Amino acid sequence: MDYESGVIEVAENVYAWINENCATNAGFIVGEEGVIVIDTLMTPSLAGSLMTVVRDVTEKPIRYVINTHFHGDHIYGNQYFLPAPIIGHENCKFDLDTKWDDNFNRYWSREALRPELSRIVKTTPDVTFNDKMSIWLGNREIQLSFHGRAHSNSDILLYLPEEKVLFVGDLAVNKTIPAFPDGHITDWVSVLDQVDKIDTKTIVPGHGPVGTRADFNEAKDLLNLLNTQIKSSFDNGATEDEAAQKVDVGLYSSFANQDRIPQIVEMAYKAYRGEL
Ligand SMILES: [Zn+2]
Repeated sequence: MDYESGVIEVAENVYAWINENCATNAGFIVGEEGVIVIDTLMTPSLAGSLMTVVRDVTEKPIRYVINTHFHGDHIYGNQYFLPAPIIGHENCKFDLDTKWDDNFNRYWSREALRPELSRIVKTTPDVTFNDKMSIWLGNREIQLSFHGRAHSNSDILLYLPEEKVLFVGDLAVNKTIPAFPDGHITDWVSVLDQVDKIDTKTIVPGHGPVGTRADFNEAKDLLNLLNTQIKSSFDNGATEDEAAQKVDVGLYSSFANQDRIPQIVEMAYKAYRGEL
């Protein structure tokens, strides 16, 4: 699916760096005294490209780095933005400290990535929070908040209340079936009900194009649809294979990454059995 990619200024001095093919996105906000970088991408090359993109816009120093959650495609570039403090949810640091190898091995299994991955030095958040915190960049308030386990146990939102811009990380991806290696489907549905109450105009997802309320609603509907269909199969005693066969994403059959359905079923069954 084609969509607008590259550096997109979504509000004054607020930029999304949108990548093609639903690869991982990043963002940055330029203030008077410096720059906040939102996610650092997966490889040294991508982190370097992100830094180039920032430097094309401003020479100001990097003041803070935000990790939207603990997945490697969002945080393995952290080391390239030091010495800026890296801010994440306390579970982001905990999960990186306790599950680094598991998480790393998922990416390591893709052989073509190994020359890049071998250069990564474990670099985790050094400023953490639980419910919420604000960063003031000059007169601009940047609100960070956590709403519970969902796509992972460390998904945070970055919200600009004046401009009504919301960076959602992987909580609500756009034009793609979501990734579920750490997802808890029923908790995720409740978290999106909370996110829905935030007054937003522009939504920058962790994957896919910049979106509007309508795109957020699609992501929310898709997750609800998956939960309803898979729970019904679970309640009827269907096997995971049968449940995956029965999933019909309907309107969303043109979305990328349709092959993620079996993993979603596997993780949903674990959630329904209370194993997560
Ligand atoms: Zn993720």
